[in-house]
Amino acid sequence: VPTARLDKLLSNMGYASRREIQMLAKQGHIRLDGAPVARADERIALMPDLERRLVVDGEALDPLPGFALMVNKPLGVTCSHKEAGPLVYDLLPTRWRRRDPAISTVGRLDKETSGLLLMTDDGGLLHRIISPSRHVPKRYRARLARPLGGEEGTLFASGTLMLEGDDKPLKPAELEVVGPQEAVLTVHEGRYHQVRRMFAAAGNHVEALHREQVGGLALPADLEPGAIRRLGEAEIAAIF
Ligand code: URA
Repeated sequence: VPTARLDKLLSNMGYASRREIQMLAKQGHIRLDGAPVARADERIALMPDLERRLVVDGEALDPLPGFALMVNKPLGVTCSHKEAGPLVYDLLPTRWRRRDPAISTVGRLDKETSGLLLMTDDGGLLHRIISPSRHVPKRYRARLARPLGGEEGTLFASGTLMLEGDDKPLKPAELEVVGPQEAVLTVHEGRYHQVRRMFAAAGNHVEALHREQVGGLALPADLEPGAIRRLGEAEIAAIF
């Protein structure tokens, strides 16, 4: 089991500075299994159940480093610090925004795309999900400006569709037509504006785009737009 200095652990989790953590400990505000931990400069074993056993200011601990969560991303919220508008990071509790390692989005959704967005502070997990060689499928529901022509499924499945500005054709993607102007598209890459550009290449225009699923993990029906939920081990495993 790895260990960490308690002051370093808690300051990296965004609680306070190391000096302030040491003060909190001295004043009895940090408890392990109910007993005050007087010295925050000592090392503590990072057992998974530490989250339940370590209590700061009467509150159960935030997730230990190495966790993942899902967000039902609302429309109008951006995944990039470089774009204007509210950020998905604003949906997180303030303390979680001060963490090191930082929590980042697993890939990005456009400002005007809603639905399942994963976030994690675990770089290894992030790369496993977005790595092109793993081609984790992503399932999108698109509402279109014009009726589908009937040829889109063949075009998207062909593995030969070249988008403007790209140097490689797209990998085959699966289209399910669910209505005259509505379809579900499953893609295995994450190129810039990919779904919108695919329908544009087919002579259509995406009016609304919503991600329903990443790998085997679906957006739960009860997760409201803007709500976040921590992923359990089984849910993380279901992605792959
Ligand atoms: N494809 C897009 O065009 N936009 C997204 O947000 C995701 C996939």
